[in-house]
Amino acid sequence: MRALNDEDDNVRAQTFHAFRRWRSPEIASALFERLQIETSPRVRAWLVMYEGYSLIRERALPHLLTLLHSDPSAVIRTRVAFLMGGFGPQAVPALVDALDDPGAMRAAAMTIGRYGSLRALPKLMREWARPANQGIRRELESALRDTAITTAHAPHPPRPPSAQAWIQARINALNPTTIGQWPLRVFKEDLNALPLHGNAIFLWGLRPDGEILRMDHEAFGHPTVREDDPLTRFAVVAQGALRYPELAEDIPSPPPTARPCVTCLATGESCAVCAGLGWR
Ligand SMILES: [Zn+2]
Repeated sequence: MRALNDEDDNVRAQTFHAFRRWRSPEIASALFERLQIETSPRVRAWLVMYEGYSLIRERALPHLLTLLHSDPSAVIRTRVAFLMGGFGPQAVPALVDALDDPGAMRAAAMTIGRYGSLRALPKLMREWARPANQGIRRELESALRDTAITTAHAPHPPRPPSAQAWIQARINALNPTTIGQWPLRVFKEDLNALPLHGNAIFLWGLRPDGEILRMDHEAFGHPTVREDDPLTRFAVVAQGALRYPELAEDIPSPPPTARPCVTCLATGESCAVCAGLGWR
């Protein structure tokens, strides 16, 4: 243990390698103490690879999340994002934030895929379609697929009580001003629903009570019914959450067969393959 504080950073690095296969709270504590004062970039980059920090989770997690969020080194941020795979769903909100960090996005997406968090879905969808992320498209696609598969089999979290008032406030704030915005006026005044997504034929909206409506905007009288198809319910709320991130908590569980559409990169834009849903 004393060698961890040797003044030669080669000795410290070798000591880490001697310890890294052993998972115990004592070793985790010693490595964690060293991590907090270590100045050698090389040794720090090794120290953040120790998977045993999850044994001292309460102490280690806040510091590791600070590194994930704001360490100047992309190597450190990336390795911490991978390390978070051992820390449980508690780490998910920080990983969702890390999707905004080009340096750590790939690692954050891969770790999120292990947890399968619906709240990560809108951001993963947006980043998947972004041309700048072409180099990590495969990882983002895997994260989306893994998330859909995992959440399809997990119990859905209860709807937060605040959701109802939030949706109502957004409906009240709708402000159709032109004749061309008639669907918006119908959603606000007749249906009391927040528009989420549309394709060439239908528009979908969410009522404060969680009901999802489907309006045929091409047919006379624009008939409106309750949307009952599980894939469509999932896809339109996921699309709506791109515009309203608060809705990420309201995304219904997808059916087990749901996959992001590789033709339109989950955007649904003018896509015949997925009928504009972004998911198949
Ligand atoms: Zn498509």
